[in-house]
Amino acid sequence: MSHAAGPRPSEFPEDPWDAPSTPDPDRLDLGPLAVAVRRSLNGDHAGEVGTMLPPLVDHHVHLMIVGADALADSAIAGLVDLGAPLDLVAARLHRDGLPRADFAGTFLTARGGYPVGRPWAPAGCARELDPERGDGRSALPSAVETAVSEQQAFGASVVKVALNADVGPVFDRGTLDAIVAAAHGRGMPVVAHVEGDGMTRLAVEAGVDVLAHTPFTEPVDDLLIDRAVAIGQRWISTLFVTGYGTATPDSDRALDNLRRFRDAGGSVLYGTDLGNGDQPLGVNPAELALLAAAGLGAPELIAAITDPWPRPDRAEGIATFVAGPPPATLDELPEWLATACVVPTEDLEAL
Ligand SMILES: [Zn+2]
Repeated sequence: MSHAAGPRPSEFPEDPWDAPSTPDPDRLDLGPLAVAVRRSLNGDHAGEVGTMLPPLVDHHVHLMIVGADALADSAIAGLVDLGAPLDLVAARLHRDGLPRADFAGTFLTARGGYPVGRPWAPAGCARELDPERGDGRSALPSAVETAVSEQQAFGASVVKVALNADVGPVFDRGTLDAIVAAAHGRGMPVVAHVEGDGMTRLAVEAGVDVLAHTPFTEPVDDLLIDRAVAIGQRWISTLFVTGYGTATPDSDRALDNLRRFRDAGGSVLYGTDLGNGDQPLGVNPAELALLAAAGLGAPELIAAITDPWPRPDRAEGIATFVAGPPPATLDELPEWLATACVVPTEDLEAL
């Protein structure tokens, strides 16, 4: 991890996130990413004591539904938009300001496949592709290669494929393989929406990098979970939208799948699917509480919500600040973290 650029307070070690923490037996151990800090004496909150964390990232949002500026005044400093028309992507990328945004651009889907025709899906947010029939020897780019390169040209840094067998046709394995190869050839990870029987297996066998949701329509068996972990697949949590606070068959399956994925060593990314149902425009404490219910401890929760994916490095010059003492228990962590704000790193000094 490199944090070499930019000035920083002399009190910090070279990498503030590697600062040694002093365990307090009355407080929850937040792990190595949390640093006890005080705000500088020059600002509006002079001398306020609290905790510094890396910038928070919601790895699954839809600005086309909540609006391009919906998270501008929140504690979320980074977002990954997993499905939007390319004109929205291009417009947002030409503006400065937080959150730092990464985009998948349009959903790639089979002809007539999800989310075509969904009431929430505006025109232009899905691109339908015919099955790939080429033998790989044609000198012309295939439809898949053209689609992926156009997405990248508009500013997408992630490719999203929809594999929803419950509502329509899905890509055959050859076409999905071609999409994964085209994306990887351009340095872009592939994220899949999986829904319906066999879709998790299809995504794992095709080498999809990230699942946009914890699988919620089918129990994922332990062998398949082991394969997903072995290829380094990561799962974006989105547990809250499987039940909106109520236990449902979908939410029970998702929680059980994520618990076993995490137990097997799988890497979890915090994501809310913001735009899907009623959720706070910022940190969703209910999503964090469900991650804790899936077995993630405080250091893992913080790692899941501060992972810079799909970028290799965290944003420079900004940090998360949570005022007051750290939580005493894991149960208190979600509401505590929901009070966070984004501050310039130079406004904080290590205690
Ligand atoms: Zn979504």
